[in-house]
Amino acid sequence: MDRCEQLYEQAVEVLPGGVNSPVRAYRAVGMAPRFITRADGPWLWDEDGKRYIDYVCSWGPMILGHNHPVIREAVERAVKDGLSFGAPTRREVEIARLMVELVPGVEMVRMVNSGTEAVMSAVRLARGATGRDKIIKFEGCYHGHSDCLLVNAGSSALAGGHPSSAGVPEDIVKHTLTAQFNDLSSVEALLDAWPGQVACVIVEPVAANMGVVNPDPGFLEGLRTLCDKSGALLLFDEVITGFRLALGGAQEYFGVRADLVTFGKIIGGGMPVGAYCGSRALMEQVAPCGPVYQAGTLSGNPVAMAAGLAQLTYLKEHPEVYEDIAAKAAWLAAGLRKAAEEAGVPVAVNQIGSLLSPFFTPTAVTAFVDAKGSDVGRYARYFQGMLAHGVALAPAQFEAMFVSAAHTRAELEATLAAARAVFPTL
Ligand SMILES: *Cc1c(COP(=O)(O)O)cnc(C)c1O
Repeated sequence: MDRCEQLYEQAVEVLPGGVNSPVRAYRAVGMAPRFITRADGPWLWDEDGKRYIDYVCSWGPMILGHNHPVIREAVERAVKDGLSFGAPTRREVEIARLMVELVPGVEMVRMVNSGTEAVMSAVRLARGATGRDKIIKFEGCYHGHSDCLLVNAGSSALAGGHPSSAGVPEDIVKHTLTAQFNDLSSVEALLDAWPGQVACVIVEPVAANMGVVNPDPGFLEGLRTLCDKSGALLLFDEVITGFRLALGGAQEYFGVRADLVTFGKIIGGGMPVGAYCGSRALMEQVAPCGPVYQAGTLSGNPVAMAAGLAQLTYLKEHPEVYEDIAAKAAWLAAGLRKAAEEAGVPVAVNQIGSLLSPFFTPTAVTAFVDAKGSDVGRYARYFQGMLAHGVALAPAQFEAMFVSAAHTRAELEATLAAARAVFPTL
């Protein structure tokens, strides 16, 4: 038994499944999780001293790679002044001003502590602002673990075989309607069935919690049109895509405007931060300006804001990062396709910007049903093989692979070499 396995034995005694977030438990790939001691650039080290090229990147936040000096130093400076004041600070104003500058349509920002909290609060705001109760989400999209959104959810809710959750009352989820990603007619049918009752349509502009599935051309534009017709608000959950597809997120990348936008992951630079944002008219519905209540003891935490502000500022000052990470992801995707083809393994690799995922299926993956058709047993073997070759991928099929600015040509080539060794064994 190695040290990670020993720790895992202790962990399962005191933490459900040995972890504090389900997908970390490696259940979908049938092995004990690696316990990480440190990370730097594109690398992770585990308790056994093994080193891995990391494509989880903390599930997205580490777009610049791990332990980036600019962010680390900003945090170190902030820590010296105290950890939390429960009072407004200068950096909250600075990061909000930066977001208003960078993100299309955003005039005001409310900081929270996670993506879950951001989406939960944005849905409350959509309901409060429209006076409507229903919401429309898409099967296989994940929006955090708040009650009303744990319906037909993606990510680890999907890998565990529990599309929703025990403990969520029917009375609450009856207001959550489910449509199909990339199928506008499924949205239109729901809007017609519940006229004047839908507060918002919430979507991951790129679905990245069923593996990566790109929006078809016209899909996001069509949602905009349907929302305008029905009076529903369009909510882009940009917890993954925000500051990743482009500085202005999916709105900038696809040229489609949302009414409400949620952020998480990258916005905190590795610290727990989320945010929801929109026009002044909408955001002034939030307490203390308006009737929609939402608060947070640690929201806008000074150390977390220092990390987020440093990361967003760095990205603004280095916009070439976006071309770089997208080119690397495209190169990896092409290499994975070729390696799979040479090994005779049917794989569909989806890629957009710095996000990619290989699905073990002979068909193209453009919808949730295609993603679900992936051979998850094969993914598990692929994961184990790659890990043995020093490459840490997401420990489940229905997650994205993240490429960071810190991944160099050497790591990318080592990754493809590993894939060429592993594919023939699948
Ligand atoms: C990760 C994620 C969330 C939840 O964010 P947490 O910080 O884990 O609560 C919400 N929406 C999307 C699209 C996500 O990928």
